Amino acid sequence: MTGTVYLIGAGPGAPDLLTLRAARVLERADIVFHDALVHPETLALAVRAEKVETGKRSGRRSTAQKFINKRLIDAARKHDVVVRLKGGDPMLFGRVQEEIEALRAGHIPFQIVPGVTAASAAAAQIGVSLTRRGLSRHVTFVTPRAAPEEPANDWAASVLAADTAVIYMGAGLAQSIADTLIARGKPADTPVGLVEDASLPGSRVRYGMLRDLAPMAALCGAGPAVIILGDVLRETMQQDAVESLVFARLPHRARA
Ligand code: SAH
Repeated sequence: MTGTVYLIGAGPGAPDLLTLRAARVLERADIVFHDALVHPETLALAVRAEKVETGKRSGRRSTAQKFINKRLIDAARKHDVVVRLKGGDPMLFGRVQEEIEALRAGHIPFQIVPGVTAASAAAAQIGVSLTRRGLSRHVTFVTPRAAPEEPANDWAASVLAADTAVIYMGAGLAQSIADTLIARGKPADTPVGLVEDASLPGSRVRYGMLRDLAPMAALCGAGPAVIILGDVLRETMQQDAVESLVFARLPHRARA
């Protein structure tokens, strides 16, 4: 008998942003393979399960991915309820397709449970609609990061075309993102917001212009951060300007 593998979105960080469906599957789970950033309270819902952290080091990602795929298949041959828990929504920047293909090839039944993605959590936190009427009817989720084996993609074209852009995995590349976008014609005074650890206590938000993105990102701590770009930010940015200055004066750790 083969068990079912559930590919579950754990949400952006706050444990109560998990879906009820995810919580119910976790309660029944026999084994949970989870990303490093999943909140301990979320993991605690899996009362009976063995928990396995599946950290991936950049550089050895594809080997690590093959290993995870194999472990999911092996686990499904031993257990009824196998969970793969990923941050945010598993279908966005989560490398879930490799797992789906592997499960299909292994004839393992699987289900996907969506989660709240970082862009939604960040927008909620700053109180800015990504598709504010009159300013934005087009939002793009994009990352400039590509694994070595992936073909290059023109992420900047997508940002240039969009009214609002949310950039994932970009804080460590802030200088090159700003340089590329400005060189390609994005106005240097485009409003940008950087939201770190969205949905979690201690989350930090900074606003500035595209030309300031690198110094803004340098103030980030170790938490995950999204960059939001677009005119939808302008009003909130002005209201929060004083607070931003206060944030900027707080002690910080430099981002690697
Ligand atoms: N599947 C995830 C994204 C994984 S890629 C999702 O749907 O959200 C990892 C990137 O997500 C990080 O580099 C960061 O850009 C973003 N991210 C994840 N959690 C975040 C959070 N709580 N606050 C801000 N950005 C976050």
